[in-house]
Amino acid sequence: MRILITGGAGFLGSHLSDKLINQGHEIICMDNFFTGRKENVAHLVGNPKFELVRHDVIDPFKFEVDQIYNLACPASPPHYQYNPIKTTKTSVMGAINCLGLAKRTKARVFQASTSEVYGDPTVHPQPESYWGNVNPIGRRSCYDEGKRCAETLFFDYHRENKVDIRIVRIFNTYGPRMNPDDGRVVSNFIVQALRGQDITVYGDGQQTRSFCYVDDLIEGFVRLMNQTETVGPVNIGNPGEFTMLQLAELVLKQIGGKSKIIHKELPADDPKQRRPDISLAKKYLGGWEPKVPLEEGLKHTIAYFKTQV
Ligand code: NAD
Ligand code: UDP
Repeated sequence: MRILITGGAGFLGSHLSDKLINQGHEIICMDNFFTGRKENVAHLVGNPKFELVRHDVIDPFKFEVDQIYNLACPASPPHYQYNPIKTTKTSVMGAINCLGLAKRTKARVFQASTSEVYGDPTVHPQPESYWGNVNPIGRRSCYDEGKRCAETLFFDYHRENKVDIRIVRIFNTYGPRMNPDDGRVVSNFIVQALRGQDITVYGDGQQTRSFCYVDDLIEGFVRLMNQTETVGPVNIGNPGEFTMLQLAELVLKQIGGKSKIIHKELPADDPKQRRPDISLAKKYLGGWEPKVPLEEGLKHTIAYFKTQV
């Protein structure tokens, strides 16, 4: 198949490109390089099955493709809050442009949604049936509401125009090729520990997240895209739940060094807890479940960051 990946030079997009190229597909990797990096896909440039296109997903585009994965959107809070209006436009206009292309070409189209659609959840763990608890006017809203609106557009194109959609709700994912300046917690803690800097835990560090290793997530993406039982949304993540203090301690245990844990102010609207209910993924994705525990995934990720800092 010929497959378009928007945001293909980012952390997740580059791993997805690798997997699909290895399966023999042709990839068009489209990116505006806001947070993505050419070095993430440098090893694919020159491969006749790989095309790298600089383009912004908010501007219309035309390709002849069989499948579309829409991943374009900055994912870390400092990056998506840098230009919040652009972030909303990226999610909304990007979804419209991908859906328009899918409608014309009859391509199947996949949306990278997020656990952020659950906001600061009052139901725990979060099943797909939970409608969420999102502040519509806060600092995280450009991302959360942009992704929620993208889901709305996907379902309306599906109902009105019979567009063949898939929606994944991704829970915190980490691994090699995260940008050292990304600003999300796993890369921050590892980079800080490798540099001998203090580890910045926001708030009291009792808030929780559930961390999925990138290989497990990408396997789930491809399974979701290629099955016909459900259009989603389907949660994909690792239900292992950790406080940020526990994560800091795990990183320090593996890296050692002199870093101390310090506390910084908790950002506004920071969700207190997050853990996926993955029953639907297990049911529809051919027995999929995450295989890589946090300690092991951290080991691979630390090895990568040692080459970067
Ligand atoms: P990332 O920042 O590494 O990748 C995003 C990519 O999109 C980058 O290559 C960036 O340059 C590109 N991009 C951003 N705006 C664009 C635009 N307007 N036009 C074209 N390209 C644009 O982040 P990631 O972790 O790889 O996230 C990929 C997708 O998965 C995002 O949509 C994100 O919201 C979603 N997601 C990721 C996680 C996670 O934990 N990694 C969790 C939930 C959702
Ligand atoms: N966090 C932290 N120190 C950091 C970066 C993040 O303690 O240097 C916390 C953040 O406040 C949040 C959690 O780690 O509670 C996960 O943050 P991240 O930005 O990785 O993802 P998200 O909040 O979008 O799940």
